[in-house]
Amino acid sequence: MAVHKLLLLPGDGIGVEVMAQVKRVVKWLDTQGLASFAIEEDLVGGAAYDDCGAPISEEAMTRAAEADAILLGAVGGPKWDGVPYALRPEAGLLRLRKDLHLFANLRPAICYPALADASSLKRELVEGLDVLIVRELTGGVYFGEPKTITNLSDGQKRAVDTQVYESYEIERIARVAFDLARTRRNSVVSSEKHNVMMSGVLWKEVVSSVHGADYPDVQLRHQLADSCAMQLVRAPKQFDVIVTDNLFGDILSDVAAMLTGSLGMLPSASLGPMEEVSGKRSALYEPVHGAAPDIAGKELANPIAMIGSLGMALRYSFGLGEIADRIDAAVAGALAKGYRTGDINAEGMTLVGTQGMGDAILAELERVN
Ligand code: NAD
Repeated sequence: MAVHKLLLLPGDGIGVEVMAQVKRVVKWLDTQGLASFAIEEDLVGGAAYDDCGAPISEEAMTRAAEADAILLGAVGGPKWDGVPYALRPEAGLLRLRKDLHLFANLRPAICYPALADASSLKRELVEGLDVLIVRELTGGVYFGEPKTITNLSDGQKRAVDTQVYESYEIERIARVAFDLARTRRNSVVSSEKHNVMMSGVLWKEVVSSVHGADYPDVQLRHQLADSCAMQLVRAPKQFDVIVTDNLFGDILSDVAAMLTGSLGMLPSASLGPMEEVSGKRSALYEPVHGAAPDIAGKELANPIAMIGSLGMALRYSFGLGEIADRIDAAVAGALAKGYRTGDINAEGMTLVGTQGMGDAILAELERVN
């Protein structure tokens, strides 16, 4: 059996608490002989700053580069509010994203039937929802130059951000989306604003050309980003994979996220380019939520987003989609039995803490084993 090199970076606040539940699931998979892991663990964020004066050490960066996948909890907290900007906890995460060239951000929005009433939309619109947003993460308007504020002679100021994409950046994110669609319901919506933006014109052209050349079996539809946002709240179940740029992806993924209820439920993945010889790609998996200092240390955090991030690592880095399905089923089972952490609690349910939710998910894994 292949041994998967997994680097755990629990980070700060509830990152440490939710990662503890992932460790239990990993251990269970190992003892059942379902998967084999070589686990390493290191510090990131404020914890790393306290230890070595930097938000991630060079040794941890080396381990990250060598790992098959990285699982990160969360970084940050008021304790580090005063540290120099370049050394703030978030800088550790940004360095990982930058040095590992993690250009593809995957944000699934899945609505478990047991939680459909927690959504801001009607149950029938979201029950069984399974959308995957593929966001370009290293280009576009957040990084484009020039990026300035200048003083004008008439006393006014002018701010400039630059939306810039080169065709290779669009092509590689389009390939990620098409490849993923083939493992799902085989349908991609590409979202941009080609009616008013030249980058949108190029985006549409490149996505169409990649599709025509290599993915004619996948259904492709182009949709303007504003219309896509509207459809996401009107009838979200029409979508399978949505591929979009950094700016629109930032917004659309948050819209999709809220359809599912709580921040504590949302995993994510960030993937780097595929190495040609080894076929390997760097990958970082993390919950969408932060370190939640308001509940840290109280065993109140929902571990499902973190456990879902492990599921994504199994699916996208280790080729263990069946085991990922079992983890998803165990989460759905624990929820169906009424177990709830505080963030998703409702009347008549059984309130549990972080460990209690871990117990419920492990019990479901045992049950369906
Ligand atoms: P947050 O996501 O940490 O928390 C927002 C709210 O959601 C809080 O009320 C929190 O208690 C709740 N929440 C979040 N995750 C939860 C979970 N798993 N279970 C139950 N409730 C949960 O965002 P914030 O409060 O804006 O930021 C706190 C710190 O985390 C800041 O230092 C911020 O910079 C950092 N942050 C880090 C990341 C990351 O590591 N990727 C992401 C966002 C924020």
